[in-house]
Amino acid sequence: MRARFVAGNWKMNGSLRANAGLLDALKAGLKRSGNLEYAVCAPFPYLGQVSAALSGSAVTWGAHNISEHDAGAYTGEVSGAMLREFGCRYAIVGHSERRALYGEDDARVAAKFIAARRAGLTPILCVGETLEQRERDETESVVGRQLDAVVSAAGAPALADAVLAYEPVWAIGTGRNATPQQAQQVHAFARKRLAARDPALAAVTILYGGSVKPGNAKELFAMPDIDGGLIGGASLSAPDFIAICAAARR
Ligand code: PEP
Repeated sequence: MRARFVAGNWKMNGSLRANAGLLDALKAGLKRSGNLEYAVCAPFPYLGQVSAALSGSAVTWGAHNISEHDAGAYTGEVSGAMLREFGCRYAIVGHSERRALYGEDDARVAAKFIAARRAGLTPILCVGETLEQRERDETESVVGRQLDAVVSAAGAPALADAVLAYEPVWAIGTGRNATPQQAQQVHAFARKRLAARDPALAAVTILYGGSVKPGNAKELFAMPDIDGGLIGGASLSAPDFIAICAAARR
């Protein structure tokens, strides 16, 4: 059975006070449940707070970004080893906001993916097409290219226990989610594409991300190739995030 997983992406939001309330509520509301796992990915300055608050709970945690380098003259960057040293488990790589706003191309995303693996972190690799690309019927070629770049650079075994997130750019933070059928179609394509490189990759956990809310999570997560979600805005509300996690239970 494939792992089920729901991860929150706080983006650049939070304060010590707001985080404390949110983390307490998550710790109380999310209990171990079968093969379902939960994580929150928070801005770097709050990772210590997140780590301490979630200690002993069913919720793990991760970072939003990682340097492709291990150490050295890279002012402003944070290495995988630094994250790992104090217990970080996941690193998001290739989020569309980083690709679009910070110029991270496929080669850099692949280098960050490899750096995460080198440090013992599990990458959450984000892929997805823009609205223009979807309208030009390029969804599969874009997602296929983004996946191939990482598989070719990192090698198929590095993907085997990584997490993939399909996040159509037009659905992120817009309130307009992909329909379950649209999402399922791309998830099935991605799974097939990975399996063509190595049959073991057919079992990769693939999350859907893009305006997931308590009201649409259940039907999205019911799709055969959707194993959970990467949740942005709704992960800032404990009741919403807990309800979304409940919807991922099988
Ligand atoms: C995200 O930022 O990864 C995301 C899915 O955002 P939202 O849920 O707000 O669309």
